Amino acid sequence: MYPSSCAIVRLSRAVLICVLLLPVGFSVQAQTSAMGRQASTDNEYQTGAILWTQSSAEYHALAYQTFSLARLRLDQALAARKPLRSAKPPAVIVDVDETVLDNSRFQAELVLRQIAYTSDAWQAWCDRAEAGAVPGAVEFLTYASRRGVHVFYITNRRQPEKTGTITNLQKLGFPGVSEETVMIREQGANASKELRRKTVASHYRVVLLVGDNLNDFSDDFAGKSIADRRVQVDRERSEFGSRFIVVPNPMYGDWESAIYGYKSNLPEADRQASRKAALTGISIQPGP
Ligand SMILES: [Mg+2]
Repeated sequence: MYPSSCAIVRLSRAVLICVLLLPVGFSVQAQTSAMGRQASTDNEYQTGAILWTQSSAEYHALAYQTFSLARLRLDQALAARKPLRSAKPPAVIVDVDETVLDNSRFQAELVLRQIAYTSDAWQAWCDRAEAGAVPGAVEFLTYASRRGVHVFYITNRRQPEKTGTITNLQKLGFPGVSEETVMIREQGANASKELRRKTVASHYRVVLLVGDNLNDFSDDFAGKSIADRRVQVDRERSEFGSRFIVVPNPMYGDWESAIYGYKSNLPEADRQASRKAALTGISIQPGP
């Protein structure tokens, strides 16, 4: 590419970035998002995870595999004899971010601009309603809906983001999207989804839960250490790939929060040290 072309490309990119995010008035303070992201300007380390999500065909393949399994389990659940006392209609509960909506462009923009997550930036992104669909998600939920299964979108997005969320889901063709079925985190509520799951379960037979974060399935995993999260998964292993369907998300989640001990305001140096400390390497034995 000629230098002049490079300059034009760079300029175009800068303009695009400004158009995308500047109107929201970015600040660079660290904070924890409603989605559990651990925000920091030190986000270059996320490049690999975002690249994998955005550019690997393996991510697409794995997402298709995930929703193929979900369909198989759904068919099995619907074919199984219903509990005698249960006349409840079947339902599927899905998380939204990185389960059915792909926000990797938002994540990438933070890295490209070396800025931290802020609620204003997130709000602006949600308002754009431009997140993509996780591969296979629309097809799976459309299939479920056509089989008479109700779909509930339980998300920790908040009230100001609800309209954009509904618009985004509807634009992508997700079924059964409404004020009632998109169940956000209400003002003053904590991050637990348990109450919302119970609300759905009081009226429906929940045959599947789909999410990218263990807390999308049960509070059994909430607030636990790295080791204890794995212990709990081992305890509930029969649920995974059965009633719990996990979508891969290497970009953020409680797996990362656990590395920081769920501290949202750790200095960047401490966050980096925590990440390094969590790595398991090869013990080097002293020579003879
Ligand atoms: Mg999620």
